[in-house]
Amino acid sequence: MSAYVRKSIAFWASTVVLVVFLVLNDASPFWVIIPILIFGLYVTYNSFHIEQNFFLESIVSGKPKKKGIAITFDDGPNNTITPKVLALLDKYNAKASFFCIGKNAEEYKEILQQIDRAGHTIGSHSFSHDKWIDFLFTKKWINEIELANNTIESIIGKRPRFFRPPYGVTTYHLAKAIKRTKMLSIGWNIRSLDTMNNNVLEIVNRSTENLKDGCIVLFHDNLDWSCDVLEEFLIRTQKLGLQVVPLPELIEEKAYED
Ligand SMILES: [Zn+2]
Repeated sequence: MSAYVRKSIAFWASTVVLVVFLVLNDASPFWVIIPILIFGLYVTYNSFHIEQNFFLESIVSGKPKKKGIAITFDDGPNNTITPKVLALLDKYNAKASFFCIGKNAEEYKEILQQIDRAGHTIGSHSFSHDKWIDFLFTKKWINEIELANNTIESIIGKRPRFFRPPYGVTTYHLAKAIKRTKMLSIGWNIRSLDTMNNNVLEIVNRSTENLKDGCIVLFHDNLDWSCDVLEEFLIRTQKLGLQVVPLPELIEEKAYED
């Protein structure tokens, strides 16, 4: 049972007790609106914080005592940026994980194959990555996940197990869909915020401030500054004496179905 379900049961049980108490004491039951609003804010906060494991367990760091850090990219493959990212990774002999959007994979099949052939990991980041995707119910979420998996499998011949929630938002319905499709939710513990800022040094400073063995770092491979960020990050990583390792190795999980 997830923290959300446990806390919801406890919350609604206490709310009933509170209503009974208010009615018995001739007070207006309307005042229960206050705890309901607070609980709503608490649930919303947790939706935006994948690392809280509120709706489901997500992997946000490497296995204890594992050496190395893992680099992950969301929102690709991108026609122009992803090939340059691949060339840079090759130059620095680093393996990364790409959480691809199904519809982009369908459009740029060859780039998806290129990622795979270079020995990087491919995970799913939903099929549509629609801006309203976080409001989907379980059935529609399952469709999103399966459609993306079918698309990726038809292109590289491997069916992903890793799923990164779009916008890093988790919900009750997404949690149910992930469980039913037997996917593994993958978060991060270093968020570069590269989509909100185009200052390369600021992004790299932020990403390396608390960087240590076991970290999973989130970048995007669809921004004009993605390559500059990656190169500076790789140089900084070397200076810190940290090794970039493949995500499946860091978290000791298989990236694809058997
Ligand atoms: Zn995304």
